[in-house]
Amino acid sequence: MSLGRVLVEEFQPDVLKWLRQKVELVVVNPWVEPERWELEVSRVHAIISRKGKITREQMKKGAGRLKIIARTGVGVDPSRVDLDSAKEFKVWVTNQPGSNSLSVTELVFGQMIALARHTFEANQAVKENRWSEYLKFIGMELAEKTLGIIGMGNIGTRVALRARAFEMDIFVYDPYIPESHVTALGGKWVGLDELLRESDVVTIHCPLTAETRGMIDERRLALMKSSAYLINAARGGIVNEDALCHALKQKKIAGAALDVVEDEPPGKNHPLFQFDNVVLSPHIGALTLEASKRGEWGAAEEVIRVLEGKKPKNPVGEGA
Ligand code: NAD
Repeated sequence: MSLGRVLVEEFQPDVLKWLRQKVELVVVNPWVEPERWELEVSRVHAIISRKGKITREQMKKGAGRLKIIARTGVGVDPSRVDLDSAKEFKVWVTNQPGSNSLSVTELVFGQMIALARHTFEANQAVKENRWSEYLKFIGMELAEKTLGIIGMGNIGTRVALRARAFEMDIFVYDPYIPESHVTALGGKWVGLDELLRESDVVTIHCPLTAETRGMIDERRLALMKSSAYLINAARGGIVNEDALCHALKQKKIAGAALDVVEDEPPGKNHPLFQFDNVVLSPHIGALTLEASKRGEWGAAEEVIRVLEGKKPKNPVGEGA
């Protein structure tokens, strides 16, 4: 007997096959068929989705029927799922903490080396028959440099572990963890301003909250070394983009790698596109087969748990 009707994105076949044995499945890609997605949201008992938007209106329409919105990733973007409405209409919202930490961490090191060794510009030069310009691409070794990690949770901790293998010194700013967590990994627990002053590479791994929104602003960017690089693979709103453009223009920092921007996707002529020393990627930190599989299985299991009348393992907020 079916446990209910479940709206799901196009996931890996083995996840869909497992779900089909237990529920009636409606598979819709919210980016390709936004109208069908919108229609189905209020007709189902559960939704499993990466980033599909679920509005207050839709929750209201589905009230009593919709039991759970299961996210496959780590964060739950409040602009895409309204947690207050979920609470009001007794809908569980769940996520998959830690499911994509390895993927984000590995991308961060890829971007760090891309910045320090100018690999994107060098690649372009070779393809444009400018091999002889190679001396332009003199790089920086990571060994013996200081890596500043803002936020040392699942991802920040893995970044620190790998930084040790690169023989980097580690500074951490995270007011919500004990100092011993940092020192156990050979790092130094410091304030944010000290971290920004001392680091050769700064990488952001805290959530976007009222406290962290705009945290990396003009004053703080001005504290960084002019030779330092900034990496943000957390959330766009943490770095003030006007201030970052200003710092790059004034050469107050050496460059930046951004997997996230404040408004995604960014506008056609976003000011950050003008800088050769800015490496951008379209929020692909979690985008590996391994992380997708972990997230999709985890979310599918949460849905079955809730449809069987049990509590979910990873609720965000209070839910039903
Ligand atoms: P986590 O919850 O395990 O760790 C977050 C850490 O940030 C915690 O240790 C917390 O104490 C710390 N923190 C909270 N407020 C802080 C503040 N004001 N200053 C400094 N530190 C603060 O989360 P995680 O799994 O490590 O993920 C970190 C962030 O990365 C997520 O919140 C998410 O926004 C982002 N993320 C991005 C991608 C991507 O695709 N680019 C994928 C996964 C996660």
